[in-house]
Amino acid sequence: MSSLFSSVEMAPRDPILGLNEQFAADTNPDKVNLGVGVYFDENGKLPLLACVQAAEKALMDAHKPRGYLPIDGIAAYDNGVKALVFGTDSDVIKQGRVATVQALGGTGGLKIGADFLKKLNPNAKVLISDPSWENHRALFTQAGFEVGTYRYYDAATRSLNFDGMLADLKAAAPGTVVVLHACCHNPTGYDITPAQWAQVIDAVKAGKLTAFLDMAYQGFAEGIAEDGAVVGEFVAAGLAVFVSTSFSKSFSLYGERVGALSVVCSSKEEADKVLSQLKIMIRTNYSNPPTHGGAVVAMVLGDPKLRAQWEEELAGMRTRIKAMRRALAEGLKAAGVKQDMGFITTQVGMFSYSGLSKDQMVRLRNEFGVYGTDTGRMCVAALNEKNVGYVCASIAKV
Ligand code: PLP
Repeated sequence: MSSLFSSVEMAPRDPILGLNEQFAADTNPDKVNLGVGVYFDENGKLPLLACVQAAEKALMDAHKPRGYLPIDGIAAYDNGVKALVFGTDSDVIKQGRVATVQALGGTGGLKIGADFLKKLNPNAKVLISDPSWENHRALFTQAGFEVGTYRYYDAATRSLNFDGMLADLKAAAPGTVVVLHACCHNPTGYDITPAQWAQVIDAVKAGKLTAFLDMAYQGFAEGIAEDGAVVGEFVAAGLAVFVSTSFSKSFSLYGERVGALSVVCSSKEEADKVLSQLKIMIRTNYSNPPTHGGAVVAMVLGDPKLRAQWEEELAGMRTRIKAMRRALAEGLKAAGVKQDMGFITTQVGMFSYSGLSKDQMVRLRNEFGVYGTDTGRMCVAALNEKNVGYVCASIAKV
């Protein structure tokens, strides 16, 4: 008998979450999960930051009722995001030219922005980097866009193809939405230099493109201000830019879904109108955001003591990842890997594109219980002193 759902096909498994399921079922006692983009501490545990614990305690002690939040979220949260992304003293904020809304993680920020852009310019195309975070293509496709790519990484030379990137941006039609990783490119770990950013900004401006900066790792490359500097460069160029923010990693609040979308406009009047439209996107999808994660982040960002503590804890994560990059590169050399793996230490953020083939990644998984993606991406933020030696020895064997 045919049912309403008889024509529904089984969707492919999410490549990363599928790996997680396989990892959970693996009985190898030495197994290491470098597949998912999550930071683990030196003991292999997901940290609950001390600044978050302090904020949560204060919130619990206050016994606040849980009414609906405004559609665009907690005002103190949105203001905290603005200061973080654009700098406390930035002119765009003083002039009221930024519309910021609390969102369900960085993904939520991207989706609100994508839905708004689709309404604004229905015929625009979207360009994402090749390769990019898996969900970029799916998310913008789902929002109704045709999604193409700009060149970014050259597997043959294991380096950036900046000339290709620039050429592709220059060839894009006016109105094209260009999704750019503000820092800590996922999956490759390669960021472009400030001088190259300047050329990208010129191309975006000359080509009348719309820049959508995805900032999921602010603070993981060099520091909060350093990683956010690129946003200021777009603003200084007079561009209307979209910025999605994620606190999943930087606050280790993955499950609380704390993120934001900020849109830079040319006047306060314009920003007010844009904000009103973003609120419609939110209202018609999930009405308003949840309270807890936003309240925690707002409290930490707004309290000087907690803020300093957060910056210290974030710096600790950044430093540990860098140490693990060095340990991985040195460990691979010591394990007899002939190729120069020094590139691992020049990459930034949570990921490393290892340059390993799909076959090698499958062997790593099946024979050694070392899980990375088929593209060769490994999450260096999941390495620690105890597992890095085993990972190096396993890689050396494949
Ligand atoms: N953008 C990039 C580049 C990411 O790597 C991620 C998470 O892995 C996200 C967005 C989504 O972040 P969130 O988990 O906050 O939705």
